[in-house]
Amino acid sequence: MTDINRREFISTLAVAVPTLAGRDRNMANKSVPGTIGTQIFPNVYEIQSEFGNRYIQQYLFVGTEKVVLLDAGVAKTPDTSILPYLETLGISPKRISMVVAMHSDADHHGGLPYIKDASSSALLACHRGDQHLIESPEFLYQHRYNFLAADHQLGFGREGMVNCPRECKMDVLLKEGDVIELSQDWKLEVWHVPGHSDGHLAMYDAKNKAAFTSDAVQEQGYPTTDGKWAFGPTYYTVDAYLSTIHFLENKPIEHMYSGHWPDVHGEEVRQFLGRSRNFVEAADDLIKTHLKSNTQGVTLKQIIHAVSPKLGTWPDNMAEFLQFAIYGHMVRLEQQKVVRLKSGVPVEYILV
Ligand SMILES: [Zn+2]
Repeated sequence: MTDINRREFISTLAVAVPTLAGRDRNMANKSVPGTIGTQIFPNVYEIQSEFGNRYIQQYLFVGTEKVVLLDAGVAKTPDTSILPYLETLGISPKRISMVVAMHSDADHHGGLPYIKDASSSALLACHRGDQHLIESPEFLYQHRYNFLAADHQLGFGREGMVNCPRECKMDVLLKEGDVIELSQDWKLEVWHVPGHSDGHLAMYDAKNKAAFTSDAVQEQGYPTTDGKWAFGPTYYTVDAYLSTIHFLENKPIEHMYSGHWPDVHGEEVRQFLGRSRNFVEAADDLIKTHLKSNTQGVTLKQIIHAVSPKLGTWPDNMAEFLQFAIYGHMVRLEQQKVVRLKSGVPVEYILV
C-alpha cells in the first residue's frame, strides 16, 4: 500500500460505517423488546438484537424439509430474541432441524445449549476446527481469549464468560462442500472461511445469491449500534484471512449478511471485501514502521498501543482487542524472517 493510499484509507475510517437508516424495517417486531426481526428473502429472516453497544445477528431459514438457524447469539439470546421471534412467526422451536455455530465465540455459540433445551431434536453443528472451543467454555477461555497471557501479558477476564457458561456437544461436523437441503429446490452450500478462527464457516444460498459470513470478514472493525467503531478487526491468522477475502471475491455474491455488520449488496460486497484487505495491509505497514523506529525491541502490547490510534477511531480502552490480529501479523513477520523474538516475559520483537 502506498503512503497516499494509506492516508486515504485512514481518513475514510471515521465515515465508512454504513448506517442502518436505509434498512427495511417493515417487519420490525415490536413485541420482542430490543429485537428486530426482518424478512430478508422469502422464508429467510434476520434476527437482530443489541449486545452491549453492538448488534448481533442470527439468520433463520424456513424450508419445507428443514428449519436451519445460523448462529445462536450469547447465552440469553435464545430466550430474549430468537425463540420469541420464532413464536411471532408461528414456528415452534421443535421444528428447528439444525443450529449452525458459524464459529467459536461467545456471541455466536453461547446460546446453543439453550436452543437445545427448547428443542431437543435440533442438531448442533459446526466445523471440526472450532469444535472443542465451542463445546468447552474453559477451553475457549484458555485457548481463544487468553492464549497470549503467559508470553505477552495480554488477555481477557472471566466476566465475559457469562455469555457462554455451558458446555454442549456437537451433533454434526460440517465441512467445505457440504450441502444442507432446506427444500427440494433450495439448498445452503457450506463454505470453510478461516482466519477469524480455524473452523469458521459461511453459508451460500444460491437461490438468493446471498452469502452468510458471520465474522469471516470484518472490514475496518466492529461497528457500534450508533455507527461508530467498537473495536478493530479480530482475525487471528493473516494468510488464512486474506485467502478468505480472495475466496469470497471470487464467488457470485449479490448480498452479504454477517454477524455484526450492516448487510451489503452488489458492488458494496466488493467494497466491503476491499476494505477488509486494506486494513490488513495498513496494519502490516504500520507495524513495520513502528519496529523500524524502535530497534531495541518492542512488546506486543507496545505495538498494539502504537498502531491502534492510526488504524481506527475506537476508544483507547478497546485497543487491546487488536491483540489477535497484531499477534497474527507478528507470527507472519517472524515466518517471513522480518522480525525475531527476544526471549523474556513479555516477549519483545526486533526487526531482523
Ligand atoms: Zn462476533
